Amino acid sequence: MAPTEGDEQPPLRMLFFPFLLPGHLIPMADMAALFAARGIRCTILTTPLQASTIRSIVDRANTSLGSHEKRRTGAIGPPFPDIGLPPSAESGIGLISKDYNDRFLRTAELPQEPFRRFLSSHHAEIDAVVSDGLFHWSVDDAAEHGILRITNPFEACPDDPATIVSLPGLPHRVVELRGQMMDPVKRPHEWAWFQLIHATDRWSYGELFNSFHELEPAYAEHYRATLHRRACLVGPVALASGSGKDVTSRGAVAGALSPESIGCLRWLDEKPASSVLYVSFGTMKIFSPEQMRELARGLDLSGKNFVWVIANGSASTDLCMPVGFPMAHRGYIVRGWAPQVLILNRPAVGGYMTHCGWNSTLEAVSAGVPMVTWPWYADQFHNEKLVVEVLEVGFGVGAEDYAIWMETHRLIGSEVIAESIRKVMKEEGDGDTIRKKAEELRDKARAAVEKGGSSYDDVGQLMEELIARRCCRRTAGE
Ligand code: UDP
Repeated sequence: MAPTEGDEQPPLRMLFFPFLLPGHLIPMADMAALFAARGIRCTILTTPLQASTIRSIVDRANTSLGSHEKRRTGAIGPPFPDIGLPPSAESGIGLISKDYNDRFLRTAELPQEPFRRFLSSHHAEIDAVVSDGLFHWSVDDAAEHGILRITNPFEACPDDPATIVSLPGLPHRVVELRGQMMDPVKRPHEWAWFQLIHATDRWSYGELFNSFHELEPAYAEHYRATLHRRACLVGPVALASGSGKDVTSRGAVAGALSPESIGCLRWLDEKPASSVLYVSFGTMKIFSPEQMRELARGLDLSGKNFVWVIANGSASTDLCMPVGFPMAHRGYIVRGWAPQVLILNRPAVGGYMTHCGWNSTLEAVSAGVPMVTWPWYADQFHNEKLVVEVLEVGFGVGAEDYAIWMETHRLIGSEVIAESIRKVMKEEGDGDTIRKKAEELRDKARAAVEKGGSSYDDVGQLMEELIARRCCRRTAGE
């Protein structure tokens, strides 16, 4: 049972330690808010800049509590490490070159000292550390102080790019092209790093997933029964955010949104239901000018309305929209950070062209929006398989190249892009089937986080384990 007011025991305390990129930081802050709502005192260890992007989530976690419990959740931490990045790149949004990206990834090895200092001073009060899978070294530090480390995993996978590879031992038959997977020869350091991360995940007490049982029951079972690992599926964590002002500024540096972002919500409210495609490729995607032009033409040819989020650093759309395109009527561009969760939940949005980042995928699932999938790297090709083949709530543009940068990507042509959009947003036939399935999933996602739902219960189960463990620690005199 969770500690309640009047219990002699102080509340459970968890330390959350996210990697500094938004796609890692935001879901972990949402996760902390979710645990805080169940009475756990949560601390998020991160830099002041990163803390400014999750300020609204932390504030909500505190204001949702009774006045006697105020400020149970806090974000604290050291300044951003000096790794030669300009201040504009420290938020990790739109890292515009491979060099910036590589430097940013190096920060995964740097925050050891602040983390160690924090654990040395506070280990007696902390019941569990939830640290990002990329901080593989944190498992040893936590163990040194007798604290459970729960990881928030980061996924990756194993010479001819056209070779079809069948992924072994999974509940469904999943095949991918070799070119859609990371190449250990081309990326030996990254490959070795991911091996290390996966190894340390196994030494952790368990893994916290931004997912829910009903989304992938066979895989949740596979994780437990076949891989013998403790998996807590506590998501979709973005649903814990509700729909208030804090969701609007969620993830924006210092909580500041551009006027375009606000205007976009008003623009959407004037459009018919399910008539708009939301186009966004997460926080890390920079398109080449050629691909931008093909995408712009594809949007034109599709005949659908769209909201297109352009990461800072991408080529300008002004140069690539076809001459005479009725922009004000059919398209809306947001440059920079968009209030994604709010956009996806607008009734006008009927499709989402996505890179299949896991958080974005879950946000689309939670909003019941079918997807046009365009994966690039990391776990995104696997996520596409889940969306298109297992859940059948999307259709792919046919991306085949695993690469974070555009250099090795083959161009996806405008006709193909337009056809994929039409398939997903068609009102009748396949489009209708996909939409109905997406709506069914949305209802399951919402039920999972409600009291008595599977994710709600997984949080409760973990809390019970932490309380039992606290008793054992006391008995052992730790
Ligand atoms: N996001 C957002 N506005 C943007 C871009 C991204 O709110 O303009 C959020 C999005 O809702 C998601 C996260 O940033 O929660 C991106 O995470 P994901 O795993 O989907 O992709 P990544 O950027 O890490 O590849």
